[in-house]
Formats: sequence, C-alpha cells, structure tokens
Amino acid sequence: MFRFDNTYARLPERFYARVTPAAVPKPELIAFNSELARRLGAPAESLPERELASIFTGQKLLPGSEPISLAYAGHQFGQFVHQLGDGRALLLGEVVDLSGRRRDIQLKGSGRTPFSRNGDGKAPLGPVLREYLVSEAMHHLGLPTTRALAAALTGEPVYRERVFPGAILTRVASSHIRIGTFEYFAAKRDMEALRRLTDYAIQRHYPEIQEDSEADLLFFRKVGEAQVELVTGWMALGFIHGVMNTDNMSIAGETIDFGPCAFMDRFRFDQVFSSIDQFGRYAYSNQPKITLWNLSRLGSCLLLLAQTREKEMAKTLENDMDSLGALFEQRLIAKMLEKLGITQSTQPGDRELVLQWLRLLQTQQLDYTLSFRNLAHLVESDSDSGFFQKTSAFQDFYQIWQKRLQSQGLEAGTIREKMNRVNPIYIPRNHRIEQVIAAALAGDFSLFHEMNEVIETPFEEREKFNDYSLAPRPDQVVHATFCGT
Ligand code: AMP
Ligand code: MG
Repeated sequence: MFRFDNTYARLPERFYARVTPAAVPKPELIAFNSELARRLGAPAESLPERELASIFTGQKLLPGSEPISLAYAGHQFGQFVHQLGDGRALLLGEVVDLSGRRRDIQLKGSGRTPFSRNGDGKAPLGPVLREYLVSEAMHHLGLPTTRALAAALTGEPVYRERVFPGAILTRVASSHIRIGTFEYFAAKRDMEALRRLTDYAIQRHYPEIQEDSEADLLFFRKVGEAQVELVTGWMALGFIHGVMNTDNMSIAGETIDFGPCAFMDRFRFDQVFSSIDQFGRYAYSNQPKITLWNLSRLGSCLLLLAQTREKEMAKTLENDMDSLGALFEQRLIAKMLEKLGITQSTQPGDRELVLQWLRLLQTQQLDYTLSFRNLAHLVESDSDSGFFQKTSAFQDFYQIWQKRLQSQGLEAGTIREKMNRVNPIYIPRNHRIEQVIAAALAGDFSLFHEMNEVIETPFEEREKFNDYSLAPRPDQVVHATFCGT
C-alpha cells in the first residue's frame, strides 16, 4: 500500500527506540481518509475494511515499515523535562507523496513504548475523534497541520476517570521533529547528535539553505518565520492551541498535538480552555509571547553548535528574535485587517482599528466567527439582523471602518466576497465535538461522519448544515477541554 522510504530510522540509535505495536483484541475501522490516502500515493479503495482496520491498529505491518518511537524532551508549562518522547505513538515509516513531499505516517494510541513513563500508551476514543476532526478542519481552513488518515477502535477498554473504548489515530505529518527534539540532545550536551539532527532537519525541511555557511542561523529564521505564520493564522481563526509546550511545536511549522485546544466561541482576549492551564500561560493573547519564548529555547540549542564565534551568533539570534517579534505583530495585524475587508497595504491607524474591533467583540460578548460573517453584511448597508448592539463604540468603529473600506476603491460586493473567503462560517465548535463524542461513545458514529463533511468546506454556506454555524446556547457552552491523555 505505502512505498516506505524511511530516513529517520537511519539516524543514530539514540534518536529513537524500535518498538512493536501492541496486539489488540478487535480492530474496527471508524474512518479512513481516502482523499489523503490518494495524495500519499496509496489509494486504498480496493482494500477491504478489515484489512485497513488491521493495518491502522498496527496489527498488520506493511512491507518496509520500521516502527520507531522518537526521543524528545521539552519545556512543559515552562519547566524542563529532560525525557518525554513518543509515549503512546510510533512512526510506521515515511512516504513521499504525489507532490514530492516527505510525510511521516504515525500511529497514536498504539501501546506502551520505552518513553511511556507511567502511561499506558493508549488513547481513549474521545481524544482520537477530536484530533481527527480538528486537524482535518485546520487543513481545510488552510493552515499547515498534521492530518488524520484513519481512526480505528481497538476493542480494548482504556481506563481514565472512567472506562472508555480504546482507539488509535493514524496521523500524517511533515515530520515529528519538535523544538523539544533539539532540547533533548542539547540537555545531554550530545553535540554530535545535535549536529546530526540540525543537518537532518535542514535537509528535510529547508533544503534551500543547506549549502549556506550560516545554515544554522538561517534555519532558526526559517523555523521562526514558519511559527509566526502558523500562530498568527491560529489567532486569526480564534484558535487556542492550549499546550504550546516546546515538545508540541513542530519545526516544520505545522499545528501538532490537538489536546485541550479549541476554537473560541465568544471572543475574550484572555480565553483559556485547557483544564490544566491554571495560570493562563497558553491563553489566546499570550500565544505570540509563548511562540517567541519557545523559539528562544530553540535558539539556545543552536547556539551550542557555534564553535568559535559564539558571541557573534548570540547577538545575531537576539536580533532575529526582535525581528520575529515585529514580524508577528505585522502578520497578525495584516491577517486581522484582511478579515475586516482591508487588503491593501497597512496604514497608520489600522492597528488601532483592529484593537477597537476586538474590544468591541469582547465588550458585547460576541461570537468571534459569526462576528466577521455578520460584519460582511454591513459592507454595503448599515442594517443587519441586530447581531451587533449599535452602541456609540460600535458607531465609532463602524465609521472608521467604512471610511477605510472606501479608501480602497473596490466594489462593495468584491470586499464582501473577499471577507467571506477568509472568514469561515463553519469551525469545529466545542459543543459540536462534545455531541459527536457522546454519540460515538453510545455507538453512533453518524454525527462524526456528518461533521467531517461540514468541515470540508468551511467558507461555503450550506443550507443543510446551518446548525453547525450556530454558537452554543448557554447550556451548551463548553468551558474546559481536556488533555488527550
Ligand atoms: P502531550 O501532552 O500529549 O503532548 O504528551 C506529553 C508527553 O506524555 C508525551 O511524551 C506523550 O507521549 C506522553 N503521554 C501522553 N499520554 C500518554 C499515555 N497514555 N501513555 C504514555 N505516554 C503518554
Ligand atoms: Mg505532545
């Protein structure tokens, strides 16, 4: 099915552990992403479901597969943990997809590994469905992300606060190299491994810089830019990752690890969902600061590689950090302006306009996603269905915004269309995901399949899916999401 071409497994043995997926009693396929399979050069229509279930629970190993669990460390909520690693995941192997890009195929929930510590290596059904939906939604919303290839039941109970059906997610990623992978070797002062990892990461993700004499510095900048692009994209969508620990930050700049993440309903600058984030470290508007903090961890690792000109490199990294901070601000404002229908170069006052808008959403306790769609109705006229309260703060915003729109010299229809192309109508709302999970736990996967269809076209209004665009009723609001463990 896959033509594996494994490169990580050729790295030194201390980069990973060779593992065997655990035997499970009753593999059963929940979902298979045939569109993604085709892109991976592995059309699977002809394979019976039983066979797919067996492959994507790790019961049948395909030829060329070399299962390994990767070693990494990481800063969790600011505290360094010297060894984390794939405690419940294994890399089946790598494939080169139809567009020539290398992709990791990984099972998550496939049993204990040498990195499991006290964990059971398993995944309950809920978090598997959640990651499937949210990662696929992220992809269709246009952001770099790991994707979901398959979800399957294992037929085994998983013990958490209660007993859940066990499941396995097959995840596809650009790679699973994290900032924490660098920290793992840096903490051990294993310079040889750090050098190998850096060269490998450059070759795999940023080959255009590999011949440069300053490749390590350029690598830092590339990762930084990719992270800035990603996190500003999250923020424009109202997405809160929830656990931006350094072990959950991919150096490819993809969204990875959908634990206690969420798309906000009502806008609040300091919104937090994660039940384990007591101090709001990973709150919505802390995400820029945390991105930079995480990048500075990567910078410190790379600095260890400077052989003679350490001071000079430290200075350059410091300057890069400043530039990345400025880039973050600039990209975030540009993306927010685009959502407001302003696509021509930024003008003085634009940043304030964005803040004015967000403050308005917060004060009026408005739904983030629906606010932008409703604002689009106001491009041409000042009457909407009463979504916004026409307070003086609103009028102030409205007047500046209208003037700014008009300065662009575009047709109103064009502006509205542009806005609706970047402002989704469907996001995987928390209360919907909870409903999907509740139904699945009762044995009904129809909502899960329906929601998968909804998230495929997030910008296109579809009559039959109207309910999915709605904000939760007060009794449906989800206040906390949990880690996928
Ligand atoms: P996460 O919070 O999902 O990023 O996971 C942090 C670390 O805990 C990673 O090293 C995971 O592999 C590990 N981990 C999470 N859940 C389990 C589990 N059920 N069994 C073993 N290890 C786990
Ligand atoms: Mg993780």
